[in-house]
Amino acid sequence: MSLPMDYDVVIAGAGVIGASTAFHLARRGMRVAVIDATGPAAAASGASDGAVSVASKKPGVMARLATASLLYTRSLAQTGGPLHGIYSARPGYFFATDPAEELALDSLISKLSGLGGPVTVTADGNGNIGLAGLGPTVRRLVTLTGEGHMLGFEAVRAYLSAANIETIWPDRLMRWEADDAGITVETSKGHLRAGKMVAALGVSSAALFPDLPVLPRAGQLIVTDRAPGQPLPGALTAASYLIAKTAERRALPNPPVVIDPLVTGQFLIGSSREDHGDPSRVDFPTMRKLVARAVEVWPALGARQIIRTFAGIRAAVIDGMPIVGAVPQTPRLILATGFEGDGICLSAVMGREIAAMVAGEPVTDGLAADISALTPRRFEIGEARSA
Ligand SMILES: Cc1cc2nc3c(=O)[nH]c(=O)nc-3n(C[C@H](O)[C@H](O)[C@H](O)COP(=O)(O)OP(=O)(O)OC[C@H]3O[C@@H](n4cnc5c(N)ncnc54)[C@H](O)[C@@H]3O)c2cc1C
Repeated sequence: MSLPMDYDVVIAGAGVIGASTAFHLARRGMRVAVIDATGPAAAASGASDGAVSVASKKPGVMARLATASLLYTRSLAQTGGPLHGIYSARPGYFFATDPAEELALDSLISKLSGLGGPVTVTADGNGNIGLAGLGPTVRRLVTLTGEGHMLGFEAVRAYLSAANIETIWPDRLMRWEADDAGITVETSKGHLRAGKMVAALGVSSAALFPDLPVLPRAGQLIVTDRAPGQPLPGALTAASYLIAKTAERRALPNPPVVIDPLVTGQFLIGSSREDHGDPSRVDFPTMRKLVARAVEVWPALGARQIIRTFAGIRAAVIDGMPIVGAVPQTPRLILATGFEGDGICLSAVMGREIAAMVAGEPVTDGLAADISALTPRRFEIGEARSA
């Protein structure tokens, strides 16, 4: 006897990836429930910056997916779209203070020209720097247009409220059992029956799949008070950030600081990349390095006060790409994790493509190879264990 279905799809994890997937499934007319062990944006999505940036991505699959997601995010931010008023366009600035960073800026320019838009280099920094207020150690500044920003927790709220989605929290995914007709999801509150499940658990995916090569990578951030005027029109990012994202994560002489002017008039200054998973660890040595470099390149910050510091935990995968696709042993379960420092940017396109996978439809033309490069099949996943 087959059990009655409560939902077409249960999504475990109300971060930005689970929320975008829920929005896109509901828009297809599916009955969707989203459960979370704590609440919406409780983990990385609520403790991050929100650069929707192609420039910062590794060349190849990640840069192409970011390009597609940037274009799609812009369309979702049009009047009537779920990200209207959440995503905002703004210029981006990448700076160099040492020769290694100058080289990274050259690579950035060639990467962006290879992608052929939508991000354009408006000033390559050879000659006039073109932004008043920089510190004297800045040797070169590349200015971009076409990118934007949205805060993770605002995007989660927007995706979840834009469609008819049932949300259940606190409710923890414990285990599941799939059969020919569906999947029974056991949670801390009871059982849910659905056709499919999407597990978008961020770094906690590793608790359910101990063999999954997902590792915690902490990032510390600083929030300042409101500046009276806002002379910095977009994020000011160290070129060492581009080096930190490449395969060789060697020790950088200058920390990969990002100075992000928020719409509130505050600055969000981040962030470190540390191989541990303790969100309560905010330490003086790391803060000192971030603050020192931030004030060095944007001296006006010296007049600001720090009102808050916090840390978020990214879910990093050993090959630097997310893990997205059906679990080989359990095709009714789709995994979506490992977005490291790119999940806010990729959320729009990944939610759309995961919804297509769930519906059994082909992913978007032109993205098929990139999406299939994210398959969990590239790793030995092993058996799941209960949370
Ligand atoms: C310091 C920092 C800066 C960043 N800056 C940027 C940036 O500028 N641009 C960008 O694109 N990205 C950035 N990121 C990365 C981005 O925040 C993440 O990639 C993204 O938030 C991941 O979303 P997610 O939905 O995969 O996971 P998460 O947001 O971690 O969500 C996972 C959810 O699963 C829930 N959960 C866990 N276990 C269970 C369970 N057993 N049952 C039910 N629910 C469970 C958690 O409570 C959580 O809500 C940054 C991250 C950090 C830490």
